[in-house]
Amino acid sequence: MADKITRRDFLHGTQVAIGASLLTPWAEVFGTSTSKFEIGPGYYPPAKTGLRGSHDGAWETMHARVAGTKWPSGSIEEDYDLVVVGGGISGLSAAHFYRRENSAARILVLDNHDDFGGHAKRNEFTIAGRTQIGYGGTESIDTPSGYTDAAKALLRDIGIDVQRFYKYFDQDLYDKMGLSYAIAFDEATYGQRKLVTGYGSRPWKEFVAETPLSETAKADLLRAFTDKRDYLPGMTRDEKVALLSKISYRSYLRDYVKVDEQVLEMYQRWGMSYWCVGMDEVPAIYILGYTDGGGMPGLEHTVQLEGVRGVEPYIFHFPDGNASVARLLVRSLIPEALPGSTMEDSVTARLDYSRLDREGAATRIRLNSTAVNATHSADSKAVHVTYVHSGEAHTVRARKCIMACYNSAIPYICRELPETQKAGLAYNVKVPLVYTKVAVPNWRAFAELGARFVYYTNDFYKQVELDYPVSIGSYEFGADPDQPMTLHMCHVPYFDDIQGPEQWRAGRRSLLETPFSTFEHHVRDQLDQALAGAGFDAGKDITAITVNRWAHGYSYNSDMIWEPEYESDADKPWVIGRQPFGRISIANSDAGAASNTDSAITQSYRAVQEVLSD
Ligand SMILES: Cc1cc2nc3c(=O)[nH]c(=O)nc-3n(C[C@H](O)[C@H](O)[C@H](O)COP(=O)(O)OP(=O)(O)OC[C@H]3O[C@@H](n4cnc5c(N)ncnc54)[C@H](O)[C@@H]3O)c2cc1C
Repeated sequence: MADKITRRDFLHGTQVAIGASLLTPWAEVFGTSTSKFEIGPGYYPPAKTGLRGSHDGAWETMHARVAGTKWPSGSIEEDYDLVVVGGGISGLSAAHFYRRENSAARILVLDNHDDFGGHAKRNEFTIAGRTQIGYGGTESIDTPSGYTDAAKALLRDIGIDVQRFYKYFDQDLYDKMGLSYAIAFDEATYGQRKLVTGYGSRPWKEFVAETPLSETAKADLLRAFTDKRDYLPGMTRDEKVALLSKISYRSYLRDYVKVDEQVLEMYQRWGMSYWCVGMDEVPAIYILGYTDGGGMPGLEHTVQLEGVRGVEPYIFHFPDGNASVARLLVRSLIPEALPGSTMEDSVTARLDYSRLDREGAATRIRLNSTAVNATHSADSKAVHVTYVHSGEAHTVRARKCIMACYNSAIPYICRELPETQKAGLAYNVKVPLVYTKVAVPNWRAFAELGARFVYYTNDFYKQVELDYPVSIGSYEFGADPDQPMTLHMCHVPYFDDIQGPEQWRAGRRSLLETPFSTFEHHVRDQLDQALAGAGFDAGKDITAITVNRWAHGYSYNSDMIWEPEYESDADKPWVIGRQPFGRISIANSDAGAASNTDSAITQSYRAVQEVLSD
């Protein structure tokens, strides 16, 4: 604290000197005294359990900003060539791309969380002396062959060779053990809570017979799966595709396949963890590519299309998901923070957080720091970025600034932006969702039931699934059911009476109001429901729970049935929103309106080209 006061007072008297030398390294001016932002050696957020993701302490400042609290630019405390707001994959990639072109640059990355990576979040648990690594958000490098050249090059630059996952990911393990998909039917719709296993793996007749569906619904479900029927007869393929792109899957099942309401309800929440809306809003055409877990019925003989995931399996997964991408980016920016040199050794290497924000370092990553204001200086030669850290506002000066944070937050930070651009940025309503990780000492109950994934037709958590079987470097997946496991459960706030982005706004509010005890209660209740028959007891068989709450989760999904058609790319709100403004450029996956790592990297590449262009 004494250091804080001294530094502050000193700065007030040195503004002129700093202003005269915009790029003078801070350490040259002030020596190597300990920074007030330095992190102690015991700091290790991945091991924290409880309410994580957008944890308490991370979001309040920005919400106060949105509610009207102002932090005008203060005295300049530091100077940088580039300040990046947002330390997710996009922000870290921006720092990486910029450094590649300008190795002497001084870069500051600000993030409001206590960990870097944004959605790419690592969760760790210790069970019986063994470290279990889990993904708290961004899960996999999905379809890397489809990544842009810039994104592919970045993965290569930081040492990721996606082909190696064919060796590390055991694609046959669960099949060989006879574990498949199961459905937990809910009492309100089906009169009883009942788990039925073997969805997609047993003959449909056998599976359907065990369900608690009415006789009519059973017959309809069986027909939808087994009849080789074209439900759009007389239409050309183009006409079918046009129709299926405009109507929801629920409408298609109801109006063309003509199945009973109970079948419609069975699928209503099926894609909730992916699209985060009910099937009454997902265009029917997308179901063609959605073959996971036994698939969904009614379209197979109506029209054939290539799957959305193309030909690549969904295996490009580090144990902590794309948190490894973020960690490898940090290694490339601050090598001493993550010991080792390969993608394999990074998995178990302990990240030294005390190295992230070192006095005099070329790249600094400052956590727990929420940017609240980014304004051009009076002479337009710099951007003054004000951020709040430990309740105190600080201002730094940047030659260039990249906003790699949630795009809808940018209008509150960059108030000088034109109104049309602000409207474009605000269009990106983030999608709320929760990834809860449940550490258990063994997974015998799943093995006994023959289930790897349970889909709940209508419950708080939409699913529980076993972890991806990936062993990499010295990290061994516990392939024996007697070994510990990190279960994955997904919750998406759902309001069946609200459609469109409004439901995501409502969901965000509800997530922030939901206490940990509610998430925990549903973990116990739903695991008992699914697994108690195989001897699981939530009262004693849970070691730890981490709730990764993402009130601002996926980027806006522009694929739903409500999205208007735009005459050109330039008319799209997110394209209008991401235009450069003076010395400020805009990144984040939001800028591509695509919730994926490819977009996060590609948009940062574009933003860096913009800031390098003069
Ligand atoms: C639960 C979940 C699962 C996902 N799974 C996948 C997947 O399997 N594959 C895939 O490709 N994509 C997945 N995604 C999409 C994911 O969003 C992107 O892949 C990518 O991680 C986004 O990176 P980003 O840097 O653009 O955004 P973010 O990760 O959101 O990072 C932006 C950072 O900026 C910070 N920030 C915001 N405001 C401020 C401020 N005022 N000051 C300072 N910092 C601020 C944010 O808190 C955040 O840390 C998933 C997303 C979620 C939420």
